[in-house]
Amino acid sequence: MLLENMLEYNRKFVEDGQPIREPSLYPNKNAVVLTCMEPQIESLLRNALDLQDGDVEMIKNAGGFVSDPYDSVMRSLLIAVYERRADEVFVIGHYGCWMKDFDAEAAIERMKLQGVSEESMEGFNNNKGLAEWLNGSQQVEEMVRTSVSTIENHPLLPEDTPVHGLIVDPSTGKLDVIVYGF
Ligand SMILES: [Zn+2]
Repeated sequence: MLLENMLEYNRKFVEDGQPIREPSLYPNKNAVVLTCMEPQIESLLRNALDLQDGDVEMIKNAGGFVSDPYDSVMRSLLIAVYERRADEVFVIGHYGCWMKDFDAEAAIERMKLQGVSEESMEGFNNNKGLAEWLNGSQQVEEMVRTSVSTIENHPLLPEDTPVHGLIVDPSTGKLDVIVYGF
């Protein structure tokens, strides 16, 4: 398992006394970014937008999507604003996101193959069906617009918080502005 490799590496890392950067108390740039969980996207954003370690709070999930006004992403955004001094919100999708090819029905079939019972799936308690919930929204621009709309209309967010919607191109690093928040 990967965990064993990690523990082995970690043991050496600690023994060698590698320098650890002191975490800053608050993000240096007073902003929070919601983006996709794909492994390369964070480093792309760091390079293309000059975001250094400690500059922003970064929240990541599949597609960088707020699926529900009371989901855990919204919870983290609110905490970033009220506790972590973020006063600007960035929703950053990316072209070529694998979410556009994600097939929720196929994922549900794999759940069944791996032993998840019909009963468990029927017990999924949400106002959306399981497939719709897994899917979210698959077109990146729609995903960004929907998330921005959910965030900026959120009754618990200060009204004057700018919420921006952006899409980055992983092949060039170019950022397209979809929604310029005010
Ligand atoms: Zn993605």
